Amino acid sequence: MTIRTVAVVGAGTMGAGIAQVCAQTGWRTRLFDAFPEALEHGMNAIEAFWDSGIARGKTTAEQKAEWSANLSSTSVLANAVDGADLVVEAIPERIELKQSVFQELESLAPGHAILATNTSGLPISEIAAATGCPDRVIGMHFFNPVPLMRLLEVVRHEGVSDETISAAESIGEAMGKTVILVRDVPGFATSRLGVVLGNEAIRMLAEGVASASDIDTAMRLGYRHPMGPLELSDLVGLDVRRDILNSLADAFLDESYRPHPMLDRLVEAGDLGRKTGKGIYDWTSGERIER
Ligand code: NAD
Repeated sequence: MTIRTVAVVGAGTMGAGIAQVCAQTGWRTRLFDAFPEALEHGMNAIEAFWDSGIARGKTTAEQKAEWSANLSSTSVLANAVDGADLVVEAIPERIELKQSVFQELESLAPGHAILATNTSGLPISEIAAATGCPDRVIGMHFFNPVPLMRLLEVVRHEGVSDETISAAESIGEAMGKTVILVRDVPGFATSRLGVVLGNEAIRMLAEGVASASDIDTAMRLGYRHPMGPLELSDLVGLDVRRDILNSLADAFLDESYRPHPMLDRLVEAGDLGRKTGKGIYDWTSGERIER
């Protein structure tokens, strides 16, 4: 399948990054958001990324001009998806919201368009089932920040067609990503392993096995992880991690996935990680300080 035109629905952290990479890939890209200020914020974030690339000598002004010409924004969904070969949804992680947007996409987008969701862990089958075209609905799970992170997790549910799977894989490769194909199970491949490692590291911290920074150093130097599991948990957000653990415990009927009580305590105290200044570490000085 040849991709010429892409619509990205949701101009937040992920949507802006996905639209940026699509424009850089050479596709006509339209970014849509239901909120005008969010759309402006997303477009500004892309512009700032390109400008900082120029300032650091990684991007040329000519490249930026070429990429900018591929990118436009609109606050009318019908205009965004008009003639689109691919639509990527990146709106908040709420199943009813995604289902209703996919119903709109089915009626507004061309009949051949691939309808992809960037959900971190909601069942793709339930989003697809809200439409009359589950064969064209697929998970395309990008990582933050999208322009820098090389992984794309393509998530296949039972009703998706082989053509849609292979198109999603080719799209990811064209965007410069390394693609993995994962079955539609809770937590896919990435979130499931990531949160289990983080939860176990918190259990070890609570048991006094080692300090937080020594546990992180263990995985960075002993296993060549670029970032330790505790600092990564603080980066992602402890509330986000707790929600994923609870949803895995519920989905698999397995209490071993439940968040460790220390994780619950931190979230209840409002210590969510870097975004609130404190989590497992204290980040208020800008440095990582052991608590
Ligand atoms: P975000 O809050 O930064 O952005 C969501 C955007 O959607 C906002 O700009 C909001 O205005 C817009 N929006 C809300 N309702 C809308 C609607 N009905 N139509 C169009 N736009 C609407 O969220 P995000 O972090 O970009 O996450 C988006 C999706 O990507 C979620 O499903 C999330 O789980 C997933 N995801 C996030 C990350 C991450 O690290 N942030 C990583 C991978 C996947």
